[in-house]
Amino acid sequence: MVSNLQVRNENLIGGSWRKSESGRTSAVLDPSTGTEIFSSAVSDAHDVDLAVTAAAEAFVSWSRTTPLERATALFKLADLIEARADDLIAVESLNAGKPVSATGDEISGTADCLRFFAGAARTMESQAAGEYMEGFTSMLRREPVGVIASITPWNYPLMMAAWKIGPALAAGCTVVLKPSDLTPMSSLLLAELTQEALPPGVFNLVCGDGATTGAALTTHPLVDMISVTGSVGTGKAIARAAADSLKRVHLELGGKAPVLVFDDADLSKVAEAIKVGSFWNAGQDCTAAARVIVAEGIHDDAVDAIAEAAASLIIGPTGEESTELGPVISAAQRERVAGFVDRACAEGAVAVTGGGTRSGGGFYFEPSVLIGVDQRSEIVQREVFGPVVTVQRASSVDQAIQMANDSDYGLAASVFTSDVGTAMQASAQLRFGTVWVNDHIPLVPEMPHGGFKQSGYGNDMSQYAVEHYTELKHVMVKW
Ligand code: NAD
Repeated sequence: MVSNLQVRNENLIGGSWRKSESGRTSAVLDPSTGTEIFSSAVSDAHDVDLAVTAAAEAFVSWSRTTPLERATALFKLADLIEARADDLIAVESLNAGKPVSATGDEISGTADCLRFFAGAARTMESQAAGEYMEGFTSMLRREPVGVIASITPWNYPLMMAAWKIGPALAAGCTVVLKPSDLTPMSSLLLAELTQEALPPGVFNLVCGDGATTGAALTTHPLVDMISVTGSVGTGKAIARAAADSLKRVHLELGGKAPVLVFDDADLSKVAEAIKVGSFWNAGQDCTAAARVIVAEGIHDDAVDAIAEAAASLIIGPTGEESTELGPVISAAQRERVAGFVDRACAEGAVAVTGGGTRSGGGFYFEPSVLIGVDQRSEIVQREVFGPVVTVQRASSVDQAIQMANDSDYGLAASVFTSDVGTAMQASAQLRFGTVWVNDHIPLVPEMPHGGFKQSGYGNDMSQYAVEHYTELKHVMVKW
């Protein structure tokens, strides 16, 4: 189906498609075979300037639309996504190396997210007007921030685009989206759909890499806010670039999620949750269950159950319905994952299952469970972003919580226990933006998603996300 599907290799600027003037392109590969499937523009500062200027011009009228008008446009975009779901599934699965059976949820989740923000556009509220000084009435207005540079990663290309543009458009901002240069295809299809749903210039798309296109966006004087989902290093580089002009920055960065398993946990449920939580999207998930911390007494049984679950995953071509685990995104990412595992094993870790790349075409890495790892080692402290999970022992609830918090990251954590008190203690003391009890990974658009510590600041999803794209204005009226 994809072979018949035309994806434009141009930028969408002010409602029209334009070839990048840079003349530079980069090859886009199918991660399950390594073959080239598309050639994408590497847009330069001139292309970026055209897109940002179009967004700034469109802001004048879009920011004055009523919430109902913005909601109607977002509902329409969600409907168009659903109507093109088959194409979007095929393109996302091919370009991002996702098993086709899992990709449908991402496309329906994308439409659902936009519908949530369509509703949220109409519910913004703040403190009631009042007289705080004699003879004056004060009121608050929520104003859209302005032009947003939305920068997305390769792991959930379309869904991350929706997480960014949904709240921005709902708030009355206009957007320039830069998808990852590895996975631009579904965002290009999305751009096509926005032509039917949104006025020209409200949504613009420029393709390109971080060093050229991303850097031009983050330093453009007409960009008011940068919202990025990416690695911690990228977040820091963008925050530095934004500092000169004091652009607002919204950072959804990496994670290294701990899973705390206490001795009253149901191990079959733990293994089931880890099979999904650690290996969904080949482990390339910022909230992936990456380090399991298990009560001493059940450690060996937990390792057996987790290893069995990991080994049972069906690895195969992304187009086959039965495939549960696809490749990682690129040869470089596979080498990076292999490097982490090799160095851990050289330091004494043992792979109870997996531990290596898979022979044949494509960028596959075996689902891997490592034991015998040290708390301060690289494999426990750094985000691997592949199908690799470590298992460690803890001798008490306090020690498990302390080990979980001993990390630069703070995106997500989970706790498995049948004791309400233990669940409450852990939920209170874990320094993470999301804590699940007796599961790992589900998200809903009504609730905020964001990091503590170096996992970033700001939230995607929920009414709080809409607030991030607004500024508070105090209006004080003298009688
Ligand atoms: P990345 O940091 O390499 O790139 C993310 C985006 O930033 C890409 O579009 C890239 O081109 C752009 N970019 C890179 N350098 C830039 C610069 N200097 N200026 C402007 N733009 C720049 O991330 P990735 O490898 O695409 O994605 C994986 C990372 O994303 C992981 O660390 C993962 O944890 C994180 N992530 C976080 C969340 C979250 O919600 N917190 C969700 C998904 C992924």
